Amino acid sequence: MKKLQDKSVFITGGLSGIGKACALAAVKEGAKVAIAYRKSERSEKRLAEMKVLIPEIVFIECDVSVFDEAKKGIAEAVEIFGTIDVALNAAGISGNPNKLGEMSEKDWREVIDTNLNGVFNCVRFELAQMAKQKKGVIVNIASVLGKIGFASSSHYVAAKHGVIGLTKTAAIEYATEGIRVNAICPGFIETPMITRSTINENAQVKQHITDLHPMKRMGKAEEIANGFIYLASNDSSFVTGTALEIDGGLLAT
Ligand code: NDP
Repeated sequence: MKKLQDKSVFITGGLSGIGKACALAAVKEGAKVAIAYRKSERSEKRLAEMKVLIPEIVFIECDVSVFDEAKKGIAEAVEIFGTIDVALNAAGISGNPNKLGEMSEKDWREVIDTNLNGVFNCVRFELAQMAKQKKGVIVNIASVLGKIGFASSSHYVAAKHGVIGLTKTAAIEYATEGIRVNAICPGFIETPMITRSTINENAQVKQHITDLHPMKRMGKAEEIANGFIYLASNDSSFVTGTALEIDGGLLAT
């Protein structure tokens, strides 16, 4: 039996990196998948590729940083599938790096609006739907940077700490309503987010980041997808409010 057979799965950020790997893994496990994406030249290209790769995936236009778009996107998924059995909130950005005392308000707000408010906007309506269904599973992609500080990334670190706090609180609030809410804290994962970032521009910085992991490598998106399938499926039926570290040992150091 496949682990997500006939489950309806709503995924934000599912056109790239971790979200995409989770979407592909969910389809492999028998799920019906809807991907929420924000419109851009880049996303249109990725969407066309995904349509060829897996024609049965449904695509919903939705910028998660906008409250009403999240509301509309989730309503659209419910209209298509009738339910949302599993929601994965993976949409996120790395933001422009800078010391806190030199950070612009724009850079701060952009990261908070996407990585923290974007998760709130989605979880808010996913929970409302799941409460009606009296069942559901939510997985939020946080980060190891939701548990430790990291120079030049105060906006990202603050947002990811917030995601873990929001996850724990939602888990407590809905624990007796058939809804489980968990987070995943990936270490540094080789995705387009990393390829595009300053980490990739300097071999020494890349080596330093790699060496932060006792396993001496960055992770792969598929290794996060394995954790997602565990948390989304019945294998984790007694797990809620956790922030699962998948980080090659980074947080153990
Ligand atoms: P990617 O850039 O590969 O994927 C992120 C996806 O989110 C993209 O498709 C992006 O679309 C989308 N997205 C960004 N902003 C919005 C928005 N406002 N509305 C809808 N979609 C949006 O990054 P990753 O796969 O690496 O990151 C996925 C998640 O994992 C993020 O939350 C990230 O913070 C987290 N994470 C990543 C780590 C890593 O090392 N890669 C480590 C720890 C956590 P677009 O192309 O339009 O920007």
